[in-house]
Amino acid sequence: MHVAREALIRSALDSAQRAEEIGLARDRIILSCKVSGVQELIAVYRDLAARCDYALHLGLTEAGMGSKGITASSAALAVLLQEGIGDTIRISLTPEPGASRTGEVIVAQELLQTMGLRAFTPLVTACPGCGRTTSEFFQELAKTVQAHVREQMPLWRVKYDGVENLTLAVMGCVVNGPGESKHANIGISLPGNGEAPSAPVFIDGEKAMTLRGDNIANEFVGILDDYVARHYQARAD
Ligand code: SF4
Repeated sequence: MHVAREALIRSALDSAQRAEEIGLARDRIILSCKVSGVQELIAVYRDLAARCDYALHLGLTEAGMGSKGITASSAALAVLLQEGIGDTIRISLTPEPGASRTGEVIVAQELLQTMGLRAFTPLVTACPGCGRTTSEFFQELAKTVQAHVREQMPLWRVKYDGVENLTLAVMGCVVNGPGESKHANIGISLPGNGEAPSAPVFIDGEKAMTLRGDNIANEFVGILDDYVARHYQARAD
């Protein structure tokens, strides 16, 4: 294992040195080592980072499908990123047959965003649900809101400065939901088991209104759009 690792690293360093010798500028070189094991990837890149100052591209190759690929890639890359190693990343996922490849980009962005390294798009915090709620409505609302945000982001990104830092929370009951809702820019707590059919909405930590009835999802999305338009400065054209 050690011999193979050393061969991989030397090959990368020798190739970079040769590229420089024939005229490629140092700041145009990015090194990438193909590794498919989590612990091995971490070991290779720690070593590489200690031995050179070239930009490094991180990615766990052949990570696999679905949650396995996401978990393996996140485990490996998070350790390295936390140590300040890595300049570009890719999450290599085997897509479902016929599925789009955009999932890779979303996971890469969410990894960087949840680690607090970069912000790309507002992310919805949602509770996992528990015995306090049997309703699936909060799960559906969280999904609807996240989909709405992703759909709007191409426009919002151009129009509003800093909108990617907006935080949202969709919670499943009014016993524990308001606490988390208050930490988000906009949070809603949906009624859990035996609770009155009303959903308090918190805006920047303060209770702003209570939604009721069958139109809660549309009204909440309307509150979100209104907040974005009022709180984020329009970018200069
Ligand atoms: S917010 Fe309510 S429903 Fe959601 S996990 Fe917490 S206690 Fe359970």
